Amino acid sequence: MQRDLLLNAGKELAWHGRTQSEPAHYCSICEVEVFDLLLVTTESNSRKTYVVHCQDCARRADLDNFVVLEQYKIEDLMHVYDQFTLVSLKRTLCFRPEWSILET
Ligand SMILES: [Zn+2]
Repeated sequence: MQRDLLLNAGKELAWHGRTQSEPAHYCSICEVEVFDLLLVTTESNSRKTYVVHCQDCARRADLDNFVVLEQYKIEDLMHVYDQFTLVSLKRTLCFRPEWSILET
């Protein structure tokens, strides 16, 4: 798991949380979506500009220069995962996740 890889690499995870309307984050280099664990450069973290990188790009640069910000509690993610159920196609059409990320 990504989290364990980072912990094994000696990184500390700093709690950052997430606001309800916060947009998704993308790697500033390869533009892949970055979920939950945001790798930001130490410099951008202290300036609070939060230039996000994915783990691959951060490792390619130098992981030592990055801080890991965590946006979700692992227990919350597990709870959401546990709530997933398989439904028939007909029901899928009106399926709306209880824990909706985007507010409409
Ligand atoms: Zn990347």
